[in-house]
Amino acid sequence: MNFVYEALPMRVVFGDGALSRVPGEISFLRLENVLVLSGPRQEAVGKQVAEALGDRCAGLLPEAAMHVPVEVANRAREVAAELGADGCVAVGGGSAIGLGKAVALTHGLPVVAVPTTYAGSEMTPVWGLTENGVKRTGRDPRVLPVSVVYDPSLTRSMPVGLAVTSGINAVAHAAEGRYAPDASPIVSLMAREGVRALLAALPAIAGRPDDAGARADALYGAWLCGAVLGATTMGLHHKLCHALGGTLNLPHAETHTVVLPHALAYNGAAEPSPAELWELEGRLGTPRSLRELGMAEGDIDRIADQVASATFPNPRPVTAEGLRELLHAAWSGREPSPHGQRRT
Ligand code: NAD
Repeated sequence: MNFVYEALPMRVVFGDGALSRVPGEISFLRLENVLVLSGPRQEAVGKQVAEALGDRCAGLLPEAAMHVPVEVANRAREVAAELGADGCVAVGGGSAIGLGKAVALTHGLPVVAVPTTYAGSEMTPVWGLTENGVKRTGRDPRVLPVSVVYDPSLTRSMPVGLAVTSGINAVAHAAEGRYAPDASPIVSLMAREGVRALLAALPAIAGRPDDAGARADALYGAWLCGAVLGATTMGLHHKLCHALGGTLNLPHAETHTVVLPHALAYNGAAEPSPAELWELEGRLGTPRSLRELGMAEGDIDRIADQVASATFPNPRPVTAEGLRELLHAAWSGREPSPHGQRRT
């Protein structure tokens, strides 16, 4: 019982049909001219928001792209300035919300987030930008969305494969939050409840993709796991996924899904159990090897060296040799060792 916990200022509106409450949030925040941002595939939802806002919508930019390329961020910043926007509504997964954060970072505009995946970016003051193939991230309170509208009905269009991998991406935030240096009893409460909700909901979604209750439970779990991500400093698992995504351009949610059981085994984490997670992934048919995500075996050393030379908190010392072993198991799709990787 010795901790520091800083609550982040945040409004959350949750419920089926909550999308219709976006105009109310804009009124509450006294915004009058907001730019709606989405990815190309979420443009229809973006249009719905724009229409509901009427003359309080400055425009719609459906150009969000994975990992927020700096060119896309600069274009959104220019459009926001040209239109005299006083805020942004970001509709979509972590990429669209990341674009809203990029505008907030330089222009100080408040962001209302409408998440459509379980990635959790809406709950954090962390931004990311990719330039010349290198992803930079940072923390800045200005990029934390001021209001988050969770509408589970928007997540029903996620195919089962994306729902499951995105859900495991959320579980990863909670799992690492439990052993983070800035963990606290409230973080543990959110992490346990978030993991419980997701691990119950994901098999239900896989069995019945139209199960509205399971979709709502999963989004509720993702909110809590995202809140853990916002409150703590991430360790080995997130560092590895960041390197694999940023350097090799591997897909975000799938990479988290493959790496998580191995990273938890390496750290000797018990909740969730790496063996049970691995077994669940097999049952739900997710990818379980980095090889099938397109990683070449020859890249293992490069990623191991990159992560071993970085500084980050982790319950177990991180060595290049230990990482090579972990990455080799994850690359080939071997079951994670129940007692963690060989200690070095
Ligand atoms: P994403 O936003 O790129 O979405 C993945 C794909 O799913 C896209 O093609 C998108 O169009 C589609 N999609 C989104 N919602 C859908 C829906 N409801 N139905 C059907 N398709 C849908 O990916 P993501 O996994 O949500 O987010 C990953 C990105 O977010 C990465 O760049 C990651 O680094 C970032 N991220 C940042 C933070 C943070 O705190 N800054 C946290 C988590 C993730």
